[in-house]
Amino acid sequence: MAKRKDGTNKDRMRRATEVVLAGRNPSEQYGFVNTPIYRGSTVLSPTVADYVGKKGRYVYGRRGTPTTEALAQAISKLEGSAGTTLVSSGLSAITTALMSVVRSGDHVLVADTVYGPTRHFCDTLLSGFGADVAYYDPLIGAKIADLFRPNTRAVFLESPGSLSFEVQDVPAIAEVAQARGAAVLMDNTWATPLFFRAHDFGVDLSIQAGTKYLGGHADANLGTISTTAKYWPQVKETVGSLGLNPGPEDAFLMLRGLRTLSVRLDRHMESGLKVAHWLESRPEVLRVLHPALPSHPQHALWKRDFTGACGLFSVVLKPKPQTAVNAFIDALELFGIGASWGGYESLVIPFDCKSVRTATTWNPGGPTVRLHVGLEDPEDLIADLEQGLQRLATA
Ligand SMILES: *Cc1c(COP(=O)(O)O)cnc(C)c1O
Repeated sequence: MAKRKDGTNKDRMRRATEVVLAGRNPSEQYGFVNTPIYRGSTVLSPTVADYVGKKGRYVYGRRGTPTTEALAQAISKLEGSAGTTLVSSGLSAITTALMSVVRSGDHVLVADTVYGPTRHFCDTLLSGFGADVAYYDPLIGAKIADLFRPNTRAVFLESPGSLSFEVQDVPAIAEVAQARGAAVLMDNTWATPLFFRAHDFGVDLSIQAGTKYLGGHADANLGTISTTAKYWPQVKETVGSLGLNPGPEDAFLMLRGLRTLSVRLDRHMESGLKVAHWLESRPEVLRVLHPALPSHPQHALWKRDFTGACGLFSVVLKPKPQTAVNAFIDALELFGIGASWGGYESLVIPFDCKSVRTATTWNPGGPTVRLHVGLEDPEDLIADLEQGLQRLATA
């Protein structure tokens, strides 16, 4: 299994060029730089033979337009995939990916730290359709072999977990799954293909909530499923069969966001680390859960496999009543209180994983908040957090 080299300058340059070039075809757009928004359902055929033989490059709006094709091609290029299919949200990409590989009677292994709505889908619809869902410790590594059964069809990973930031040993888990013929699915939203090329580590289906960094401006939802050649036909068939497609404007916004992805991510990483280091030095803070900090328990794994970190991480505060934590959050002026992340703006939410863990126990030692460090000046963000922490102390 080929491992990606650490992010050398040359490598980073290559990716920066790739996000600018991928999926573009000005010669097909009268020379205009960007593929425009194609709105359309009906595609006309010149003759009956063309219509019956589905000879056109495009056959129907739901099946793809030049706008959605440009985006799918760009993502395939960045992920190194055989194909990418687009759906209307990140959650839809997760549920569709699972439905494309799991059938009634199959056993599915899901990381205990997955995004909440992923877990909800597994516990309701997927289980309701007759799949046997089991959760595993995200830090299990190669020992996941012990959990395999003859009917284990899929393993779902999310690394790092998007609330608690455990980093999984993706190649070790993937190797076990590949040897047993199970599909490896990964929610790769945190790293994006710029910081983690999932297929290089044995992942068959790499999933992105494009809603986050790809769009980057908190103004659209979209999901992508990128696959190896082996899984491309069945994923394409499932998406076609379910009739899923993103809106044309949302696809356009993703293409637009993509062009600045590498500069935005570099800044999110730099500012995020600056804020994380500062928080680590504060007396109110017990721990900072950021994989790129040397204090993170799986820092070595992160360093081995990832070429960067985004602006999303969590903070464990020293024990305080929730009312004081809420006063801290309410006092923040530059951090908006809201779900989602990956936009240009900073965000904060309180969270508690206790009720959504079954294979592991969540006992961080104090109240937890998740931060998204946006593109504001990090010194301003630190000043804002400082006045917020004063409120925490006096509340
Ligand atoms: C937000 C998110 C999703 C879902 O994306 P939506 O577009 O909101 O459906 C999936 N996975 C992770 C890790 C996310 O943070």
